Amino acid sequence: MKDYYQILGVARDATQDEIKKAFRKLARDTHPDANPDDPAAEARFREIAEAYEILSDPQRRAAFDRGEQFGAGDLFSNFGGLDEILQQFFGGGFGGFGGVRRRGPQRGSDIGVNVDLNLAEAATGVSRKIDVVSPERCPACSGSGAEAGSEPRRCPTCNGAGQVQVARQTMLGQMMTVAECSTCRGRGEIIDKPCQVCSGSGRVDTEKTLTVEIPAGVDDGTRLRLTGRGGVGERGAPPGDLYVQVRIEANPEFTRVGDDLHHQVRLGIAEATFGKQVKVPLVDGSATEIDIPPGTQSGTVFRLSRQGMPRLQRRGRGDLLITIEVVVPTDLTVEAEDALRQFAEAHGEEPADAKRRRRKRRGR
Ligand SMILES: [Zn+2]
Ligand SMILES: [Zn+2]
Repeated sequence: MKDYYQILGVARDATQDEIKKAFRKLARDTHPDANPDDPAAEARFREIAEAYEILSDPQRRAAFDRGEQFGAGDLFSNFGGLDEILQQFFGGGFGGFGGVRRRGPQRGSDIGVNVDLNLAEAATGVSRKIDVVSPERCPACSGSGAEAGSEPRRCPTCNGAGQVQVARQTMLGQMMTVAECSTCRGRGEIIDKPCQVCSGSGRVDTEKTLTVEIPAGVDDGTRLRLTGRGGVGERGAPPGDLYVQVRIEANPEFTRVGDDLHHQVRLGIAEATFGKQVKVPLVDGSATEIDIPPGTQSGTVFRLSRQGMPRLQRRGRGDLLITIEVVVPTDLTVEAEDALRQFAEAHGEEPADAKRRRRKRRGR
């Protein structure tokens, strides 16, 4: 009977973490894709994977510890089992086990940039120039990867296809599968003399200035994806994408809630009582006037329709909500206090007297 602990090189009381680590290392070293010329690698790899399948599953591990045997049918029951494990560990960096994954020319890399806007710019949309460093077609070899005067030649092993059919001995018997061509590593062509500027990749990091159109209505944290504006791909492969992360600086006048803007107006008690015409700022930098009617209570909200933020990539816009805060005075002059006490008497209010107020203040 196989000793799975020995195969992975871990102790019988190894933690799940240790088992994972051991498998990761062994799998990397023995994976058939990493040893294309060693026919024994696959068998070794499968043994390691089998050990991991057992020991990484607490139930199976317990059964194995009790001395139970496992048949091939118990393992990798779903056909993608092994591939899934590899995906987990290597994020698709290896070819599928007995499966198909064509490396081929690589897609261009994605680029991320930050764009800082103020609220007015977010409301109108803006065109921004951004400096980025991105992989561009190598000017020395025009992207072919071959030294000037030479040409890449078609891979004789796969005849340019980048993949080959192979017979693999699997637990389910011999299967014909497609694998990446090991001669050209899936590229379909061979470069005898790599371009010295780009080391044969066909691409060099280049500083360039991109003009990015930021649409009206973006919010802080909005992430825009501009398809195909990232780095160039290898020959024949599509370019990557450009991701624009929008940041909007705080505005002292407005608080944004979705597409609505909130603004606060502070009024004195007489202003709230008798009404007032107040100037209210608008997001575009202009202003408008609104009539606060007499007797307006603190907390009253006035709504200016369609004066908020435009809705991103939709029609219409939010509203501007103006909240009234009535401010009770705390620093009365003698005249103002006298007037207010007269008012209190006329209005039937019974405020604390001045002495008590002062005593209270001293007492603090
Ligand atoms: Zn080049
Ligand atoms: Zn090839």
